[in-house]
Order: sequence, then C-alpha cells, then structure tokens
Amino acid sequence: MKKLSIAMLSMLLAGSMLLTGCGGGNDAQTTTDDQSDSTASETNTDYKLAVDGTLTMATNAFFEPYEYYEGEEIVGIDAEVGKAIADKLGLNFAISDMEFDSIITAVSSGKADMGMAGMTVTPDREKNVDFSRTYATGVQSIIVPEGSDITSPDDLAGKKIGVQQGTTGDLYCTDDFGEEAMSRYSKGTDAIMALTQGKIDCVVIDNAPAQKYVEANEGLKILDTAYAEEDYAIAFAKDNTALKDAVDAALGELIEDGTVQSIIDKYITAD
Ligand code: GLN
Repeated sequence: MKKLSIAMLSMLLAGSMLLTGCGGGNDAQTTTDDQSDSTASETNTDYKLAVDGTLTMATNAFFEPYEYYEGEEIVGIDAEVGKAIADKLGLNFAISDMEFDSIITAVSSGKADMGMAGMTVTPDREKNVDFSRTYATGVQSIIVPEGSDITSPDDLAGKKIGVQQGTTGDLYCTDDFGEEAMSRYSKGTDAIMALTQGKIDCVVIDNAPAQKYVEANEGLKILDTAYAEEDYAIAFAKDNTALKDAVDAALGELIEDGTVQSIIDKYITAD
C-alpha cells in the first residue's frame, strides 16, 4: 500500500502548508480596531452567526469518541471542546447532526457556524472552507474480521472496502482501489454492521472510532498500518474570518491551558 501512503502523505503535506499559509495572516477585510495582544473574550465579535447569540456546530454524531449519542444527548470530544469554545466566547452552544457529507455545505452556506466532526484538513476541503488550528490527530485504520486473509494494506486490492461516505478513508481508497471496490455508508456504524454480516471484507475508518467499534463488536480486529497522521480541525465559511479568528483564539487558550488534552484523555484512554 505504498501508493496510498504516499498519496496521503502528499495530501497532508499540501494541507499543512496551506494551513500554515492562512494561519497567522491579518485580514484586510475586517474592520476591527482592536489591539494586537487579545484573548478569546476580547477578540473581534463582529462575526456572523446562524442564530444570534448561539454557536452552532455541524457534525455527524456517529463517530465515537468524537461525537456520539448517549441517550438523546450528543457527547464526545468535539461536543465538549465545542461547548468550551462557546463558553469562552460567551455564546450559547447548539449541535446540528447531519450526514458527514453535508457538513461543509452547511458551514459554507451559513446554516451552521462551524463544522467539527473529527474532520481532517485536506487541500480539497480547503477550497470550500477555512480551517482552525489543529486540535487532534487521527490515522486511517483497517478493521477486518478475525481470521481474515487481509493481513496488510497491500491485501486490500480486489476486496470489498466499506467506508463512511465522503470521509478521507473513502477518498483515499477510491483513489487507490477504484469505484467498484467501494461500499459507502452514511454512518460508520452501518459499515461495521455490514462487515459483521459478511457483506464487505473490511472497513477503513479513523483509528479512534475503529478502536471503539472493535471493543463493541466481538470477532473484529484492527490491522496495523503505516499511514501518515491526519490533522483534525474546525471548518468555517470562507467569508466568516472574524468567527474563525475568535474560535482560534478560544481554542488556542483551551489547548494551552490543558483543557483540550484533558477532554481527549477522558474519551481516549492510552493503553
Ligand atoms: N477524519 C475523517 C475525515 O475527515 C473522518 C471524519 C468522520 O467520519 N467524522 O474525512
């Protein structure tokens, strides 16, 4: 699977260059008169929100441990970090659950204020949205049934590969193995169900949810891969730089004071 690794690596490198490129800039279009050294609560509040006074996060809440339902409530790393950002900005917080594939459109059309869904920064997505600084990382993992003849990424050729529609796992595998290899599901859980029913041969999905799926479903295991790390960040409409800057300032404070790490540690236990 050298091809996949190299393709991914170059996308990631391009992505991080673009991220750096748009990270520290000052925007001519904002009419802020604030002083340089601002904190989250002091940043320019001249941003647009879908609902006044509320920060609305678009997500797909079937991606444990980043976002998932506990009863009626959506919990997880993104849900908690998103709420902490809203608190810092003095805003109410709302989550809008939708298909992963719809998040970028919801954000760029202003129906939601930010997309937070364990979303990987990719050059293609950066054409449609701007990303915050990175707050977590992931790696694509391969889940197979115990005893599968797939023992390394090279064995994926000719197999039925299950993915969550529109995710990086979908994009990379489609590139490398072609349309006919792909079975796409709107939720990761549906892909896992198809795998346990023998309808597909493997599922390619981010490592943290992969771990949760394998814990919850007997008879599945994760293959070690040498995939490059992906950066997770928050997506914003391209014309809402003021909001991106305010969230970046809040997120920066939450990263620096250890809040983000303690939220991650609550949901992902290192072993
Ligand atoms: N990190 C992957 C991506 O951005 C998967 C995200 C998800 O399924 N929520 O495509």
